[in-house]
Amino acid sequence: MRVVIVADDAAGQRGLLGEHGLSLWVETGGHRLLFDTGQGLALGHNVEALGIRLARVDAVVLSHGHYDHTGGLAQVLSGRRGLPVYAQPEALAPRYSRRDGECREVGMPTAARQALTQRGAFRSSRVPLPAGGGVRVTGSIPRLTQFEGEAGTFFLDAEGHEPDPLADDQAAFVETQRGTVVLLGCAHAGVVNTLRQVESLTTGPIHAVIGGMHLREAPPERIEATVRALVERDVKRVVPCHCTGLPATAALVRELGDRCTPGRVGAVIEFED
Ligand SMILES: [Zn+2]
Ligand SMILES: [Zn+2]
Repeated sequence: MRVVIVADDAAGQRGLLGEHGLSLWVETGGHRLLFDTGQGLALGHNVEALGIRLARVDAVVLSHGHYDHTGGLAQVLSGRRGLPVYAQPEALAPRYSRRDGECREVGMPTAARQALTQRGAFRSSRVPLPAGGGVRVTGSIPRLTQFEGEAGTFFLDAEGHEPDPLADDQAAFVETQRGTVVLLGCAHAGVVNTLRQVESLTTGPIHAVIGGMHLREAPPERIEATVRALVERDVKRVVPCHCTGLPATAALVRELGDRCTPGRVGAVIEFED
C-alpha cells in the first residue's frame, strides 16, 4: 500500500503547491483511489509534478462535504463518467462557518456538486462500505467521547443559528499485514471516535493514522486525550496533515518521536500490503 499526499496545507518540495485542503492518492490491492480532492487549486498541478495519472483513478472517497476536501471533484470527474464516489448524503448540504461574527459558505462548490450528481456514480451511504482494493469507508461515526464532535464554528444556515453536527464526517481504512491504516479527512467526529469506529469494524491493531485532525483551536485537554489515545494504541506511524494545527502536531512529535512525521505535499508513505 502506498499513500502520496497530493494536496495539503504544507508543501515540502520545489515545484509543489500547498493550499488549505487535503487529498491523498492511495494505491493498494491493484486499485487506485483518491481520498478527498483538496480545494481543486493545487491537485492537477501536484499530481502532474509527482508523476501521478489522475485519469487512472478507480474511485473517490470524500471524507465530508467541506470545500477544502471536495473542490477538486469536478476536475477528477471530467471525462470520467460513472466513476464511483463514496460520500454520505449530507455531504451535499449547504454549510457555513462563522468567524468574527461573519458567516461564509464552506460547503461543496456548485461545480463539484453538479459533477457528483450528473457525472459521478454517487455511492451515498451512512453505513460502512468497501470502496475497492481492500479500502473501506467507515460510514457515520458514533460520537462516544465526551470531548469530541462539537459543531464549533460550523452551521447549517447562513445566519449561524443551527449548529452543523458534521454528520457526514467519515474516514477510510485498509487492513494490512502490520495492522490497520486509517485515513482521516478533518476528523470532525473526533480522532478517538474515528479510531473506535475503525476498531469496531476490524480485528487487528491500528498501525498508522494519516490525515487532518482538526485540533487547531482545541483545548489542551482534548489534544492531550487525542495524543494519549494514539500512544495507548501503540500506533506505529502518525502523519498529521492539513487542519491538525501546530499545538497538536507539536504534542504528537513530542510524545511519539520519530513515529510521527508531519505531512506535506509530496510525502510518500508505504506499507506492506
Ligand atoms: Zn472540514
Ligand atoms: Zn478540512
